Amino acid sequence: MLKNDQLDAWDRENFFHPSTHLAQHARGESPNRIVTGGSGVYIEDRDGTKLLDAFAGLYCVNVGYGRSEIADAIAEQARELAYYHAYVGHGTEASITLAQMVMERAPDHMSKVYFGLGGSDANETNIKLVWYYNNILGRPEKKKIISRWRGYHGSGLMTGSLTGLELFHKKFDLPLSQVLHTVAPDYFRREDLSQSEAEFVAYCVADLEALIEREGADTIAAFIGEPALGTGGIVPPPSGYWEAIQAVLKKHDILLIADEVVSGFGRLGTMFGSDHYGIQPDFITIAKGLTSAYAPLSGSIVSDKVWKVLEDGTDEFGPIGHGWTYSAHPIGAAAGVANLKLIDSLGLVANAGSAGAYFKNALTNALGDHANVGDIRGDGLLCAIEFVSDKASRTYLDPASKTGPQVAAALLKEGVIGRAMPQGDILGFAPPLCISEAEIDKVVDATVKAVKSVF
Ligand code: PMP
Repeated sequence: MLKNDQLDAWDRENFFHPSTHLAQHARGESPNRIVTGGSGVYIEDRDGTKLLDAFAGLYCVNVGYGRSEIADAIAEQARELAYYHAYVGHGTEASITLAQMVMERAPDHMSKVYFGLGGSDANETNIKLVWYYNNILGRPEKKKIISRWRGYHGSGLMTGSLTGLELFHKKFDLPLSQVLHTVAPDYFRREDLSQSEAEFVAYCVADLEALIEREGADTIAAFIGEPALGTGGIVPPPSGYWEAIQAVLKKHDILLIADEVVSGFGRLGTMFGSDHYGIQPDFITIAKGLTSAYAPLSGSIVSDKVWKVLEDGTDEFGPIGHGWTYSAHPIGAAAGVANLKLIDSLGLVANAGSAGAYFKNALTNALGDHANVGDIRGDGLLCAIEFVSDKASRTYLDPASKTGPQVAAALLKEGVIGRAMPQGDILGFAPPLCISEAEIDKVVDATVKAVKSVF
């Protein structure tokens, strides 16, 4: 086995890490954890440190680490047939079975699933299909896409533009001109503290209406949103938000893309976030929970309404010019089939609901009255704590204090991984859906210690 310092040197010399401060990493100032194993909700590194991963990697290892059922399915598929493409109607037993399983779980009005590799490329597919759809319908001007500030939809050219976080635009010449942003549905961070939740929803709707009015509905093709904001701070929508937004979209014939990369396959305690909040999307983006990250695979689920137009379009214009070499990769598909079977047999969707309620309750009991805890929020196993300097006046902490990252670092010292979310001082949790109440107690105890050590 290679020595740690050899790996460390090679890493800093050769490895271009995503979402990393490149200069600090090259200087050896950032952590270089080399992860070697995992079991259940725990990961282990080369130093033998065992950590409870309360963020499931990047909210993706939903069935937990070390599931031999999925490893075996991958190995079997690799031995039998590692690859064949899905172009011009080709398929494999694994990809066809997975499509069937996904569509059995998707809302009734959805029609077909296209398979990609990750969340970003699935959203790129969705935007291309939206444009194709409007071109087929003879509406070449109806192309702009509305996203929300603090939404996260990937980091490609279009998807990085849709992502409403400045870091993903800065110095990349993004966002592209076809992308517009509307306000984030974050009731806690409303500017006017006197607003009721219903008034805040009306404010979000008014901002969207004004944007549509300004640009012209005949130029706007689609609206994309995560059912609950994820990377932008883990924020469930205020009640009534989706109903009100969908009414506006319907009025202006604007398609809705539900980005369920995080919420798909159980995280919110329902199979999809759309089921949870009463969303009727035209497209659903899926990735992470589809394979629990045992292999890269994503999907774009399209509705009956969209499919009909696409199908008619190819009759008129020929085969659709879209596809990756690795679309519906059999190894990813085999992982997906085994993963969805496990989610069912272990009852993980229901567990996400009950364990999530237990988690939020325990955090609220332990920290709800803390002077620096402004908000504890979440749905299912997606939750967060937002820290403030003064609770009564909801005064934020000085961003320079980097209090959120400090709490996450203190939590790590207690043996638990949470995530300092990039917008404000927010500690996020999204553990594997198999987490037990005893493991949640450990996370809560460690969080209390971390909060006390920082404040
Ligand atoms: N959409 C959402 C809601 C996400 O959270 C993410 C990733 N965190 C993506 C899209 C992009 O997925 P990927 O990183 O697999 O490209």
